[in-house]
Amino acid sequence: MFLTETEMDVLIIGAGVVGGALARELSRYQLQVMLVEKEVDVAFGTSKANSGIVHSGIHDHPGTLKAKLCVKGNRLYPQLAEELDVLYKQNGTLVVARNEDEWKLLSELVNQGLQNGLTGVQVLGRDELRRLEPNLNPELIGGLLVPSGGIVVPFDLVYGLVENAITNGVQLAVGTEVQQIQWESSQFIVHTSRGMVKARYIVNAAGLGAAKVAGMIGDESFTIYARKGEEYLLDRKLEGYIKHTIFPLPTPESKGILVIPTVEGNIMLGPTAHRVGSFDELSTSAAGWDEIFRFTKGLVPGLQASDVITSFSGLRAAGNTGDFIIGPSEKNFHFIHVGGIDSPGLTAAPAIAQYVAELLEDAGLQLEHKRSFNPLRPLIRVRDLSLEDRNRLVVKRPAYANIVCRCEMVSEGEIRDAILRGATTLDGVKLRTRSGMGRCQGGFCSPTVMRILMEELKLKPEEVTKNGPGSSLLFGNLRNRPSQS
Ligand SMILES: Cc1cc2nc3c(=O)[nH]c(=O)nc-3n(C[C@H](O)[C@H](O)[C@H](O)COP(=O)(O)OP(=O)(O)OC[C@H]3O[C@@H](n4cnc5c(N)ncnc54)[C@H](O)[C@@H]3O)c2cc1C
Repeated sequence: MFLTETEMDVLIIGAGVVGGALARELSRYQLQVMLVEKEVDVAFGTSKANSGIVHSGIHDHPGTLKAKLCVKGNRLYPQLAEELDVLYKQNGTLVVARNEDEWKLLSELVNQGLQNGLTGVQVLGRDELRRLEPNLNPELIGGLLVPSGGIVVPFDLVYGLVENAITNGVQLAVGTEVQQIQWESSQFIVHTSRGMVKARYIVNAAGLGAAKVAGMIGDESFTIYARKGEEYLLDRKLEGYIKHTIFPLPTPESKGILVIPTVEGNIMLGPTAHRVGSFDELSTSAAGWDEIFRFTKGLVPGLQASDVITSFSGLRAAGNTGDFIIGPSEKNFHFIHVGGIDSPGLTAAPAIAQYVAELLEDAGLQLEHKRSFNPLRPLIRVRDLSLEDRNRLVVKRPAYANIVCRCEMVSEGEIRDAILRGATTLDGVKLRTRSGMGRCQGGFCSPTVMRILMEELKLKPEEVTKNGPGSSLLFGNLRNRPSQS
């Protein structure tokens, strides 16, 4: 059985930020492109659970792919965010020093930044630091300001990229796991959980699954291990308490534990960085919280544990080389690896996409521009509209007047739009609209969102899931009632 009879020019495996960015990049050209994802929705891997920082590139070792693609990716963000209407802000990165030893190390970081091509890096003394961020610990002795650092809502970006790629002709197949790959008569025959696909080129953007997918063509040139990061989100009432993303001096394992203002006005604390033995180990822990809270309280003494509204963890797909592993496989140059994409993969993704498009061209793929390419992704966010615009909108579609998530001000119209945009689960709606992300964490709006999912997708109550098979929200004897608005 074939998933599609059409032979694809490029099959992209994995719909995270990397696969999404590449799908959108390739949709500029006259190509048949398919993006396949094993989960029931896009952005359900590492790309939904990270710090959401658009890194400046000051942390990456000069000469590495990480350094090159992070700095380039960072520069691509402003235009990308505007075209896709993605929640992004250039809030600046502050690296702070707690003592004289750390102060001396700041100059190494400045040099690294300069080698990576950064401009505008400023060294700040204690008073300048206080003026910029009055709620930082007054004992911090100084810091570095890197103005190009930013923040983004990572899953919003993935949805923007994939939706725009689809607008421009890319086919998306979710719930489709690649299980086996054969090379026959100059094409790949890809066996998935939902049927076969033929493709001339494959890009392996499978995140934690990248080494396994590489193994499907007999390529065992790299390995992937998982490094877990726990993150804790604080109430939006703290909006503006900290404006820049606050970094300590980096450790050999990571950029350290951070205080991160989010685009939506929350503050996030984290992440930890600990190697774990399983690709499913996504728990958060008392030990993780203690490590994060103790450390960040040293940077921002006013933080309160009672402001935590939720926590989550994500797994960095770290490669054995320490750098991104991007390039054609030695087994078959029509198969491009994009593995080991740990931090700063979110930042680098738009630049990785351009780089991989070049690699595909080097491998013989013809890239002919499509005149009809539309770079824009339109989106309605009621909360961000002026009163006049809201009034105009609800006259046309009254569902935008019915606020379902009161914490985050999300309307029924946006929830129905999210389902049209591809959401099939409670999490899919939540990540697309923010419904359930506020102080009450969905206590109020979840039943209504479930009812709308049932109506739009013709589901029975027990078929509504949190995030796909095995996560049903309702069990047992359910009484079917007529739906009520
Ligand atoms: C705690 C934490 C904090 C981070 N913070 C930042 C940050 O602030 N800034 C930054 O730049 N980076 C950050 N990162 C890194 C960043 O999140 C990742 O680099 C990025 O999300 C990787 O994207 P990806 O598309 O490669 O992987 P993923 O998002 O994991 O996508 C890969 C997809 O492939 C799918 N897949 C796997 N196997 C198969 C198969 N056989 N068939 C079909 N589909 C398959 C998976 O289901 C998955 O959806 C952080 C990471 C973590 C864990």
